[in-house]
Amino acid sequence: MSKRIFITATNTNVGKTYTTLQLLAAYTQMGYRVGVYKPIETGVNGLPADGSLLLKHAQYSNPELKGFKASDIVTLSLPLPAAPYIANKGKKIDLSRFDTALNKIEKHCDIILIEGAGGMMVPLDNELMMIDLARHFNATTLLVTHCSLGCINDTLLSIERLKQLNIPYLWTFNCHKNRDNFTHISLPYFKQKFDPLYFVGHNTPLLAQALLDTLPIKTKENECAI
Ligand code: GDP
Ligand code: MG
Repeated sequence: MSKRIFITATNTNVGKTYTTLQLLAAYTQMGYRVGVYKPIETGVNGLPADGSLLLKHAQYSNPELKGFKASDIVTLSLPLPAAPYIANKGKKIDLSRFDTALNKIEKHCDIILIEGAGGMMVPLDNELMMIDLARHFNATTLLVTHCSLGCINDTLLSIERLKQLNIPYLWTFNCHKNRDNFTHISLPYFKQKFDPLYFVGHNTPLLAQALLDTLPIKTKENECAI
């Protein structure tokens, strides 16, 4: 099995795809074969945008993925740009379909980057939330947060939930907006409370290594290559 990293965020549009691509580049640079997977994508009319972009970049750095199509990377493509619960009309999600797709990609990689949809508490069906996939996949979770006003609240809430669920995680800022105000408005709090701090695009290699060092919960089937 490859090392699985589940990329989630405090909300949609915070930078999961951007961060995933940065990690893809970092791990490739470190000499690993990297795979990508996006179990669910909504707002899909034609090809899934995230899935196609992730696959394009992954194929460039990992030629073993040449024969893969966007539909191999995104298992559930839904037209309505909404939470999967709504977009899939409340139907029960079949997790075994995700496992099959993931296993197929994993034959060709050492590390697989799995991008969630929306934030952690996006409902998938009557039982599952997006973050339940991280646990199901036995992945290490990476929470991506923003740097705009409100990032303290959003970050702490998401971290609280990860702790409650006992999910191994790291978190990182993706500061493409409000970078200047952030330094005075929110960063002082984080500097006091957390060390180290990760910033996508600034210390991505450090983050990439730390994710490899963060072990998922051990289960019998959970023997990682790394
Ligand atoms: P997601 O919905 O969480 O996957 O968010 P995306 O990764 O798609 O980011 C949302 C938008 O912001 C996209 O248009 C990205 O290209 C852009 N974006 C996100 N992070 C950055 C960043 O750090 N720098 C720049 N220049 N653009 C970013
Ligand atoms: Mg995305």
